[in-house]
Amino acid sequence: MLDTDFFRRWMTAVAASVEREASHLTELDSAIGDADHGSNLQRGFTAVTAVLEKDAPATPGAVLTLAGRQLISTVGGASGPLYGTLLRRTGKALGDAEEVTRDQLAQAFAAGVAAVGQLGGSQAGDKTMLDALLPAAEALAGSFEGAARAARAGAEATVPLQARKGRASYLGERSIGHQDPGATSSALLVEALAATADG
Ligand code: ADP
Ligand code: MG
Ligand code: MG
Repeated sequence: MLDTDFFRRWMTAVAASVEREASHLTELDSAIGDADHGSNLQRGFTAVTAVLEKDAPATPGAVLTLAGRQLISTVGGASGPLYGTLLRRTGKALGDAEEVTRDQLAQAFAAGVAAVGQLGGSQAGDKTMLDALLPAAEALAGSFEGAARAARAGAEATVPLQARKGRASYLGERSIGHQDPGATSSALLVEALAATADG
């Protein structure tokens, strides 16, 4: 079973890996965007860890909805509302259970990912975070490790795609040949989940 502390540790692990990878994420965003993805997420997840410590939410669902709200209020870029919606919707789907199974998380996460697509008007193959999140949500029904692998593979598979959503889409064919920054940070999010489950 996954308890409240598990979800807090997951968010802390995301913050640590965003911190570590911030310059890489910004570098990816400088090729096909406006070079702020790393700093956007750094600001957001620093605020997330701070508010989780301050408010100490009592359930898994409350951890994720609070984290999502914090991302929406601290990140100005497109990724703030999108990741905020992912976490809020996932948290809402978990309800007020004190512990949840991986299967319940997989279902809730799939609802969260669907909400990202709705908000962004985006779908698989648009060269966005969804290209990592959709395969990860599907694989999470099987295992944490499988979800992490699927997210990483999905992020890498954005390289040959032409962006159809977000800033990168303004580049048209020139967006081809670069890995999407948001798909890359989504892989970090799911890898942090697998690492948290691992110990
Ligand atoms: P901004 O583009 O506002 O500077 P960020 O650089 O933080 O925001 O985030 C960019 C990432 O957001 C992109 O790499 C992409 O993965 C994701 N993104 C942008 N627009 C959409 C959308 N409509 N649907 C899904 N993801 C999107
Ligand atoms: Mg950007
Ligand atoms: Mg920006």
